[in-house]
Amino acid sequence: MTEYEAVIGLETHIQLNTKTKIFCSCKADSWEDEANTNICPVCTGLPGVLPVLNRAVVEKGVLLAHAMHSEIRRVSFFDRKNYFYPDLPKGYQISQYDMSLGNGGYLDLPMPGGVVCRVSITKLHLEEDAGKTKNAGNDRFIDFNRCGVPLIEMVTGPDLHSADEAAQYLIRLRQMLRWLGISEADMEKGHLRCDANVSIRPKGADYLNTKTEIKNVNSIDNVRNAIEHEIVRQIREVEAGNRISAWTLDWDDEKSELRKMRSKETEADYRYFREPDLLPVRLDDAWLESILADFPELPLERKQRFLEEYKLPEYDAEILTSERNLSDYFETAVKAYGSDPKKVSNYLMNDVLRMLNDSGKTAEQLKLTPLYLADILKLVDTGKINTSTGKSLLGKVEESGKAPSAIVEAEGLGLVSDDSSIRSVAEKIVANNSKEVEAYRSGKVSLMGWFTGQVMREMRGKADPALAQQILKELLDVV
Ligand code: ZN
Ligand code: MN
Repeated sequence: MTEYEAVIGLETHIQLNTKTKIFCSCKADSWEDEANTNICPVCTGLPGVLPVLNRAVVEKGVLLAHAMHSEIRRVSFFDRKNYFYPDLPKGYQISQYDMSLGNGGYLDLPMPGGVVCRVSITKLHLEEDAGKTKNAGNDRFIDFNRCGVPLIEMVTGPDLHSADEAAQYLIRLRQMLRWLGISEADMEKGHLRCDANVSIRPKGADYLNTKTEIKNVNSIDNVRNAIEHEIVRQIREVEAGNRISAWTLDWDDEKSELRKMRSKETEADYRYFREPDLLPVRLDDAWLESILADFPELPLERKQRFLEEYKLPEYDAEILTSERNLSDYFETAVKAYGSDPKKVSNYLMNDVLRMLNDSGKTAEQLKLTPLYLADILKLVDTGKINTSTGKSLLGKVEESGKAPSAIVEAEGLGLVSDDSSIRSVAEKIVANNSKEVEAYRSGKVSLMGWFTGQVMREMRGKADPALAQQILKELLDVV
């Protein structure tokens, strides 16, 4: 029996999080706005208007191109991609074609077992979005809010070989976009859209077979599902002696199945030509340097550094570098604490992450700052408070925004390390429990734990346990 391998390429459209659209000053993100409220003559293609390029779009494009190891073209051009569709009021989309901002590049995906899958980038260009069409019975509604919203189109080579690799690509791309701060990258909101080209071939073959294209998938899980379904279907067809036709398929989320869309007429001829209303984009040295001046350490590099510098387990390093905010938080806290990065990691992974999930905040929005977290750890280490008080302090600091030591002071949470008050409690307990005292003195030294527990209970857990034990020992060991 033939063994098959899948060959997958992904085409993504990334919505950039600029304030305004790519060629006009309309608001870019109108996810929650009423239809046709963020439009103007430019983005609705009225005659006689001229587009003006938004510099922020170029800058965000440069950041992504740099992160993808693309060559950044110092002079790039906009082109018109001509096609007719009701939600494209100009009759053409302003895009980039042969001289796009980014040229080539790759994204490395860490796969299980320490394997790295390198995915080549074949296209990385800037373009404007089209509008949205909604069908309702016999009526068709068009919302132009999305016209002119800035996008990066990024296309991979046919380098992915399973649904899992495709999903991993999207997970890492999303992480990168958020890390660079250039897109919300939320698939459910259409900030990151993905079409998948899928074909199969006998394992080890080096040619490409006819591919199908899966469209309209709105989550990473669904991309994985849809590709898995399509691979199975293609193998079944080929095994039955049928040919694969170049269909465009639509993923039906509810039924978890692929539907053949009305097959596209022939391959569209977009009649690309240079956009005559825009100048070439020139990136001179000064501009390029200023864009890349604060280019961050990227997630995988930072993860590697966390493994080496802080000796964190793989699992911790992966989670702590899942978001840039969180990894910054961790590092600030470790530096302030001055030792034991693993302990800081434990507090982050258990307590701080739960806090983030419950509140919907990002790490930098917490009132429990990394410095306060370090303060709490130090209070526990120096015996000023016990561990459980430390844990409850986390929530109290987050609620009030007050410094941990101020809360300890105000609420009297500190451990009593005053010899005489512990001694008087201990004396009372020794006096009231003659049976246990006798047992202890006749050799049952394990009762020390019980005595200490009594003192702690009497003092509502606030006695310094080491001191309490020392005092008890003095009282009990005297015969
Ligand atoms: Zn506009
Ligand atoms: Mn496109």
